[in-house]
Amino acid sequence: MNLHEFQAKQLFRQEAIPVPDGVVVTTPEAARAACGELGGSRWVVKAQVQAGGRGKAGGVRLVESADQVESEARRLLGSRLVTHQSGPDGLPVTRLLIEQPTEIARELYLSLLVDRASERVLFVASAAGGMDIETVAATTPERILKVRVHPAVGVQSYQVRRLGYGLGLETGQIKALGVLMEGLYRLFRECDASLVEINPLVVTTRGDLVALDAKVNLDDNALYRHPELETLRDASQEDAREAEARAHDLNYISLDGNIGCMVNGAGLAMATMDLVKLHGGAPANFLDVGGGTTAARVAEAFKLILSDPKVKAVLVNIFGGIVRCDLIAEGLIQAVREVHVSVPVVARLEGTNAPQGLRMLAESGLALETASSLGEAADKVVVAAGRAEGRALGEGVA
Ligand code: GDP
Ligand code: MN
Repeated sequence: MNLHEFQAKQLFRQEAIPVPDGVVVTTPEAARAACGELGGSRWVVKAQVQAGGRGKAGGVRLVESADQVESEARRLLGSRLVTHQSGPDGLPVTRLLIEQPTEIARELYLSLLVDRASERVLFVASAAGGMDIETVAATTPERILKVRVHPAVGVQSYQVRRLGYGLGLETGQIKALGVLMEGLYRLFRECDASLVEINPLVVTTRGDLVALDAKVNLDDNALYRHPELETLRDASQEDAREAEARAHDLNYISLDGNIGCMVNGAGLAMATMDLVKLHGGAPANFLDVGGGTTAARVAEAFKLILSDPKVKAVLVNIFGGIVRCDLIAEGLIQAVREVHVSVPVVARLEGTNAPQGLRMLAESGLALETASSLGEAADKVVVAAGRAEGRALGEGVA
């Protein structure tokens, strides 16, 4: 689960991490009123959407009058902001953060994440802030600094100095960086975060460090420990199908390809996606229907996959260990009868009661193709998706 910038900044404030003064508003009138509340003669208007790249997309504006704040608010509120991270449909803007502007001398990058390889929390820093950090890492990896925090001792002063000097900070600023890093580390652990990112962390013209942007992602598996954070969820920023899947207790992650995958077991789902890729296809989703699934859940899962317009073919890959393949077949048949299925479906059932399941599919009279091995299934579904894409293109031309 992700937080909005204004929510992340509120958490920062609680840890004494310096952030600009700001007011959250939902109407143009309130945006104008915020100018009086904040004082000064210039303000920053920031669209609150859970995607980076707002600046380049017109979602962050520095303006010089309360009139302009109001007109920017009128333009942004109720619109959808499309950034390079939001997907082509963009994300709805229902809230703005109006801030006092910061005089920037330098833009740095600082983040905290879990480093699986070292099993530690890792600080990543760079003097090339304000930019896409993936690009910096790819083109100039020497500009990325890293320190790993040992859980028994926490952030050490030598680590602060290493990052501070690496970022070209002065002695006083390195002290401020130490306070900031300790606050971030505490926040990261106390919230069970998976990512805390400040891009840019700025050095102001007066030499202070300020978190100009703030991003916090929380570990979904630990959310049950933080009911107060769960209330911050903004469903309008989330993938609608992922939210629907959560409601049905299905493990679903939306991806960019065109082959819908329905699999039982996370490991088998990963292997299935690998095989689809190996055969030249691209999965539209990860979906684990779980070990002890029911026909009803299979039907829900199938409907979920088919509700994605990107999906041009579906691969059902079930290994019947705990679950029985005839139950899966029943769910599939039920789902196909309930929803209009216009894409080819390839099913591979193996394990407990597989022959019964396959027989049920064959006798259902539905246009389901079956396969006896995973390789064959992947091959068939990639061919089917390719054919369907070709047809769609042909129709487009005609
Ligand atoms: P993002 O594009 O979604 O990452 O949004 P950010 O909050 O990082 O803002 C984008 C850019 O806007 C920053 O890198 C800054 O260059 C600029 N910006 C944001 N706030 C201020 C401010 O208070 N003063 C100035 N001068 N620039 C700002
Ligand atoms: Mn940013």
